[in-house]
Amino acid sequence: MSSQSVKIDGATKVYGDFKACDHVSLDIQKGEFFTLLGPSGCGKTTLLRMIAGFNTIDDGKIFFGERELNSIPAHLRNIGMVFQNYAIFPHLSVKDNVAYGLKARKIKGEKLESAAREAMEMMQIEMLADRMPGQLSGGQQQRVALARAIVIEPDILLMDEPLCNLDAKLRVTMRTSIKKLQRKLGITTIYVTHDQEEALSISDRIAVMRAGKVMQIGGPREIYDNPANMFVANFIGTSCFLDGTAKNGKVRILDAADVNARVDPAFAGKVKVSVRPEHFIIESKPTDGAICGTITLATFLGDFICYEIQLSNGQIIEANEYTDRMRIVRSVGDEVGLRFVEERINVFDAETEESIMQ
Ligand code: ATP
Repeated sequence: MSSQSVKIDGATKVYGDFKACDHVSLDIQKGEFFTLLGPSGCGKTTLLRMIAGFNTIDDGKIFFGERELNSIPAHLRNIGMVFQNYAIFPHLSVKDNVAYGLKARKIKGEKLESAAREAMEMMQIEMLADRMPGQLSGGQQQRVALARAIVIEPDILLMDEPLCNLDAKLRVTMRTSIKKLQRKLGITTIYVTHDQEEALSISDRIAVMRAGKVMQIGGPREIYDNPANMFVANFIGTSCFLDGTAKNGKVRILDAADVNARVDPAFAGKVKVSVRPEHFIIESKPTDGAICGTITLATFLGDFICYEIQLSNGQIIEANEYTDRMRIVRSVGDEVGLRFVEERINVFDAETEESIMQ
């Protein structure tokens, strides 16, 4: 299967005076699994539809490899597309749905049969070949949609929230299938989701979007560990934000705890310190320089206990303690001290909300 890189250079889409997509630039490598992630309305679908050729582009350019696509209609872009509502034809059998794109390309006979069979085998639906879509579960229908998208050997595979109509367990199974399929075919894939866990689990790289703009591009680990701004820190995983100050490369949290963080030494002023639940260290007896709080809720989750802790300023934070390392189950009402896994916290300029980490 051939595959292509995708370059998006300043892509913009305007509805009236509203910019649904605002000068978005992305370089997607050949064979990469690239995800557009962001809250509802941030412009992910608009961008995907511009790449597909279903939306016109008001400014900027889109390339597949060296080929500029702005004026190329959707049916000549050689893309495979999978939608959240499956969009398979209800009056065609599974096999005929899968073979549809081949027929449209005038492929016939044994070539059509073997390509359709191979795509169905890849998606493990060959035993359903003669069924009608109405006789399939949601997950099976989405497998048909995937087989139909890949059978034409597209240069690019585009997926718009393909799993969002499936139940939670099936979503996890299907995302593994999609990831394996993509790796096997080596096909450049652009995937849209608002589900950060799905994005982290499936992607080589992710573009986090907000209000038509790209906030950060990076690998799952990179955006989780080093969010570029408070929006990303908040959207990806769980973070709590504590008030603090920074001066000469030193950070003080809530006027109580001094921490070593790799912040820009030139920055002086108010900061927000983001801490993930797994990066708090809970002390049964608060020591000097720890932040004090009271446990207000303890939730046992098997491998860890999630504690809700109210700080003396009234703020409530979440802190996790892993059950294999910590045998104590703390009780509601316990006074505790909080310290930090200092190398894992992130510090942001309180005004601009941008990271000041180095
Ligand atoms: P969701 O996850 O809800 O699908 P999204 O990030 O994919 O969200 P888009 O569908 O790209 O968001 O929409 C981005 C913004 O553009 C939204 O505010 C939407 O209301 C607006 N929009 C989309 N299509 C049109 C249109 N045809 N006319 C006017 N506004 C539109």
